[in-house]
Amino acid sequence: MFDLNTIVRRNIRDLKPYSSARDEFKGEANIFLDANENSLGSPLVKWYNRYPDPLQLKVKEKISFVKQVPTDHIFLGNGSDEAIDLLYRCFCEPGIDEVIVFPPTYGMYEVSANINNIKTVKISLTKDFQLDLPSLEEAIKPSTKIIWICSPNNPSGNAIEREDIEMILNNFDGLVVVDEAYVNFSKHQSFINVLNEYPNLVVLQTLSKAWGLAGLRLGMAFASTEIIGYLNKVKPPYNISEPVQELALTALDEVGQVNDMIRELVSSRELVKTELLLLSEVLEVYPSDANFLLVKFKDAKAMYEHLIMNGIVVRDRSNVILCDECLRITIGTEQENAVLLDSIKSYSINLK
Ligand code: PMP
Repeated sequence: MFDLNTIVRRNIRDLKPYSSARDEFKGEANIFLDANENSLGSPLVKWYNRYPDPLQLKVKEKISFVKQVPTDHIFLGNGSDEAIDLLYRCFCEPGIDEVIVFPPTYGMYEVSANINNIKTVKISLTKDFQLDLPSLEEAIKPSTKIIWICSPNNPSGNAIEREDIEMILNNFDGLVVVDEAYVNFSKHQSFINVLNEYPNLVVLQTLSKAWGLAGLRLGMAFASTEIIGYLNKVKPPYNISEPVQELALTALDEVGQVNDMIRELVSSRELVKTELLLLSEVLEVYPSDANFLLVKFKDAKAMYEHLIMNGIVVRDRSNVILCDECLRITIGTEQENAVLLDSIKSYSINLK
């Protein structure tokens, strides 16, 4: 049976969190002399002399409307990377606890574990980039606190089988984090719709991908109110700046525009894939539910260098497990995709 009380670190459970000026006074007033701000203003046309809302309620109300998840089930971080780090700090005891990741996957789960002195147990995905459940079952110990599942997975691009994730959610007594950074590009359903069914589920999403706001740094974690409560307790008081909150509020009104971009990127992804498969240098293009393609070349390093010579940077993943001779290529604009394809074609011509 999952029991959050046995998962949360004792020092975090007993922590008396920092109480900011904005936390302590919530009523109406005209004169604010409580937070040592500069009452004279800012050297900008628009003033930012006041601290922002520590719990970002207005932004959460809009996210709640867009995602159909109540505000107290939402945490906002400085990118999802902040949520990843906070999950370790709240739920994993340094030097004692362990987490499980499924390589090849997003690198920050392990880096953040190392920063927090948490052991990472790695269970390779299968050859078709799915979960190896028998090996997972063997690896789980009483000290295993978090299982990280990236779906759609980076760098392979595919979504993980839903039944496999459900199997883990139903049987694992620690936290199951489903990182859905790329879910908007997928035909698969998000797990945020089943938050109420799984007290051990944390879903990560971000404005960095489909929403086109990587520069803003706004990541979201969706989970039970108790889990969200712990993340809020540990986060820095003002982790989302006022300009970011304002810009997010404006952007979140533009669901239609974002859906148009998603449709365009998904259709380009399939076109680029079809074109790539016609090229002699390309051995395989893996199925993608994301805004990138994992592509196996005859000689990935040589192709990488060739593309660099042509001013195109892709991600060389050829040293990563199960990604031999693979480059990860983000879908660009129509014109960028055309230049990319021409450049790959010119490599084959140069060889002849
Ligand atoms: N999760 C995955 C799977 C990612 O690929 C990335 C970024 N590449 C992130 C999380 C981090 O997102 P953010 O920009 O919100 O920190």
